[in-house]
Amino acid sequence: MRTPLLAGNWKMHMTIPAAVELVEALIADLTDLSDREVVVCPPFTALGALAPLVDGTPIKLGAQNMYFEPQGAYTGEISPLMLNEIGCTYVILGHSERRQYFNESDELINRKVQAALEHQLTPIVCVGETKAERDAGRAEEVVTTQLRGCLSLLKPEQVATLVIAYEPVWAIGTGDTATPADAQAMHAVIRHTLAELSNQQVADSVRIQYGGSVKPNNVDELMAQPDIDGALVGGASLKAADFLRIVRYAEHRA
Ligand code: PEP
Repeated sequence: MRTPLLAGNWKMHMTIPAAVELVEALIADLTDLSDREVVVCPPFTALGALAPLVDGTPIKLGAQNMYFEPQGAYTGEISPLMLNEIGCTYVILGHSERRQYFNESDELINRKVQAALEHQLTPIVCVGETKAERDAGRAEEVVTTQLRGCLSLLKPEQVATLVIAYEPVWAIGTGDTATPADAQAMHAVIRHTLAELSNQQVADSVRIQYGGSVKPNNVDELMAQPDIDGALVGGASLKAADFLRIVRYAEHRA
């Protein structure tokens, strides 16, 4: 059984007081959560204020990025040890905005994934094709190439502990969600590729999230797909009511 994982990627939003207010609203509502996991990924600057608040609650903390070295002369970077120290257990790696604006390559992401695992952080590894790549019929090829490139240094037992987020770039922040059928088809391709990189048992245990304009009004259909094990949520994770409705998806299923 794969425990569903609902994660909020706050991107470069939220002052510390706003972050505290949002997390307090989530904590107040999520007192009875046992069959799913919830993670919030605020900006680095809010992690220190949120860590004591989420301690002992069902909400876990994730970072949006990190560098692969434990320490050193890397001005502006954050290390896995620093994320451990501040209370993070998850880290988003290879988000399409990191790939697009900061030129992150599969090779770099691979090193980050390896470093995260070495430091007991669960990476949420993002993959996804652009609109042009989908229109050219290359979506599967692009996603499987990214997966292989980002995971090639890993042993099968390490693959077992990952989370993958399938995030079609054209769906991120656009309101243009993949259809549940298209998302399911790509998730099945991802699971098949994970089996090739490790084995079927490992692939069957890996949680694969969908990301890209997940909202209260489309989460139920997406989560009803057999290979969709959670959601990575951007815009809708910034409002407590919307994110809570997404977290509570099954209660609203037909
Ligand atoms: C994201 O940033 O990972 C994301 C999926 O954003 P949004 O939900 O706003 O499309």
